[in-house]
Amino acid sequence: MDPRDTAARDPAIDIAAESVAGEEDPGAAVEPPPQPLAPGDEAAAGTPGTGEDVCPRCGGSGRIGETQCPDCVGTGRVIRGIGGA
Ligand SMILES: [Zn+2]
Repeated sequence: MDPRDTAARDPAIDIAAESVAGEEDPGAAVEPPPQPLAPGDEAAAGTPGTGEDVCPRCGGSGRIGETQCPDCVGTGRVIRGIGGA
């Protein structure tokens, strides 16, 4: 047994390093929540075969009269299927 080998792998050092890393960024392992779908969206953003399109309900203005468009929730855009149409 080489005494230097034991010192190089001191378990106390490993524990301290892990503790600091865990406290620096506690949310690192948590996936960010996906973008909530607007009522007019047909799929989540980034879904294959879909794309962002002008909201047909408000014509891209994001508003209907004086109120927010309920389909695109004011963005003026919705995610629609574009493949196989
Ligand atoms: Zn709209």
